[in-house]
Amino acid sequence: MGIGGWLVLLAGAVLVAALLLLRGAGARRSQAGLPRGRVVYQDTTGEPARPLFSNRYRLTGRPDYVIQERGAVVPMEVKPGRTAQQPYDGDVLQLGAYCLLVEESEHRRPPHGYLRYADHTFQIPYTDELRTAVLDALDDIRHDLRARDVAPSHDDPARCRGCGLRDECGEALA
Ligand code: SF4
Repeated sequence: MGIGGWLVLLAGAVLVAALLLLRGAGARRSQAGLPRGRVVYQDTTGEPARPLFSNRYRLTGRPDYVIQERGAVVPMEVKPGRTAQQPYDGDVLQLGAYCLLVEESEHRRPPHGYLRYADHTFQIPYTDELRTAVLDALDDIRHDLRARDVAPSHDDPARCRGCGLRDECGEALA
């Protein structure tokens, strides 16, 4: 075989390897439940990522991913231990807070965010209602931080059993 033939063979091998790599990356991506788009921020590598921060709302947080989709930048939070037909309200609120942080850093509102549970990815619209709920929750938290005594925000004994403040908390449910 002449040198031209070897070059054609080599080019073919490189092409096949590139396709296999692409397929592998695609499979890993879909296994992780990641939507299409470019990951521009990731807090899942073991090294803590620099938190997103809003001076205006005095809010900081680290979403698991920030993804650049077609024309939008959106956060994604992964809860691999959760299975549910509908996302939990608390998780939606947390994702809403990440949407607010992305809005602040990108100077435009993300249209939605993603919540990934064990076997399903929910696309959560970042509505005016969700944005307002996040701002209200921030106000409530600041108010509670100044209060002398705060009632538990849940009635779940399991949460108290795993809570590091249980010995000091006078409201523990378990
Ligand atoms: S022990 Fe107290 S602080 Fe901890 S989860 Fe229960 S109520 Fe909340």
